[in-house]
Amino acid sequence: MERDIQTIFKSQKENSSKVAQMSVKDRMERVMRIDNYLKSDKNLSSLYEALYNDLRKPEVEVIATEVGVVQTQISHLKKNLHKWDRDHRVPTPLPLLGTRSYIRYEPRGVVLILSPWNFPLNLSLVPLVYAIAAGNTVILKPSEISSHTSAYLKKMISELFRLDEVAVVEGDASVATRLLEMPFDHIFFTGSPRVGKIVMGKAAEHLSSVTLELGGKSPAIIDETANIPQIARRLAWAKSVNCGQTCVTPDYVIIHESKKREFIEEFRSAIIELYNRSGSGTEKSPDYCRIISRYHFRRLHSLYQDAVGKGAKLLIGGNFEEEDFFISPTLLENISEDMHIMHEEIFGPLLPVISYNDRSDVREIIGRHPNPLMLYIASREKKNIRYFMDGNPAGGTVINDYMLGYSNPNLPFGGVSNSGIGKSLGFHCFMEFSNKRSVIHRKWGSLDMIYPPYNDRVLWM
Ligand code: NAD
Repeated sequence: MERDIQTIFKSQKENSSKVAQMSVKDRMERVMRIDNYLKSDKNLSSLYEALYNDLRKPEVEVIATEVGVVQTQISHLKKNLHKWDRDHRVPTPLPLLGTRSYIRYEPRGVVLILSPWNFPLNLSLVPLVYAIAAGNTVILKPSEISSHTSAYLKKMISELFRLDEVAVVEGDASVATRLLEMPFDHIFFTGSPRVGKIVMGKAAEHLSSVTLELGGKSPAIIDETANIPQIARRLAWAKSVNCGQTCVTPDYVIIHESKKREFIEEFRSAIIELYNRSGSGTEKSPDYCRIISRYHFRRLHSLYQDAVGKGAKLLIGGNFEEEDFFISPTLLENISEDMHIMHEEIFGPLLPVISYNDRSDVREIIGRHPNPLMLYIASREKKNIRYFMDGNPAGGTVINDYMLGYSNPNLPFGGVSNSGIGKSLGFHCFMEFSNKRSVIHRKWGSLDMIYPPYNDRVLWM
């Protein structure tokens, strides 16, 4: 493996200046190989199988949250890459009269993408298409935990690209560690803040630049003016899709005390409507995913047991079936800060509900945790929306809905401090994979007036 990694890295390094000089048309042709691959019925059915085996993902979700997301980004690239790739003129200040200044976006070189298991196709291919579009060579290491989808990615990429352009290296943390020993020109990591710190530490050894797309505890505030039936239904879906294993899933709810009972009842009805219409249980729904692994099942079970053991009250759900990695959508109240569930990202279908009476308490509760990836606000009162946004930094905010943070390629997506560094999607992602070279081109005139000998000259600047 060690030798393989070195050989691939070396071949990409040698090839990188050739790849960097490719025209926009040639880069787009490479991106479209991925698009076309995903359109073939045969390839799509192998993907359904891989994602079913990894997460029991329903086909509709494979399209909506994996393939569809990649295709949306590719369409966005198709429309915009030629504009982004041009030199970007900037204004010239008076003392530089006679010059022209512009920014030239250039490929970084050889880049590494490390991706997680929760949306294993989407979170590998979205950065990949931007890295290719920006003119880089790429080594992608998908997660060993979603092993079926990782094998699918390896097969796909080896059919579409030469190893010295794009390569997939499968393996666990030890393989990632080997990769991180290489002097990459950029590392794009999606995963936990814990591993993000390791990646940044390793990147520092080569001064490789990094994009860190991390997670954290994203709160969902619901104030006294919110439309409760509507928001409870939206939240029930957001917390259940992919079985709550989504970086933008609301982690916990902070709701105005006056609306708590109504919210709980509406959430209960929504879960029944979405996953249990037949009355035979959420576990029988073909639309409900499973927890990725025994490790994560047990982690979630112990968060639940710890909370209940310390006085949390079970309101909805609480069903755990280890042989099937099934956990039902679960609502808990009477939450206190000494519970582990309030100290780590839950990343599963457990939802603690905390109530407040005074909106200043909300800031205080959120302020106990590092800055989140998303801050959700459900409210019909402008002043409250502003109040909650102003006091609480977050990577992004969605108002009166959930999950949408990752859906508009015109908006930057990413965290702030503990939830991430750098942004992905659209132009922002293209920039992550590009060096912004500043160019000043003198057309006429000169700076002779400031050359020595200075004598008694005093500059007015
Ligand atoms: P993870 O951090 O455990 O793993 C991510 C990647 O890092 C995998 O490829 C893994 O093999 C590799 N890795 C693991 N240990 C490593 C080590 N010691 N050194 C180097 N590499 C190592 O994350 P995960 O469990 O796969 O995913 C869940 C986390 O990812 C959650 O925190 C979630 O919020 C976050 N996430 C963030 C986004 C986002 O876009 N911001 C999207 C999805 C998931």
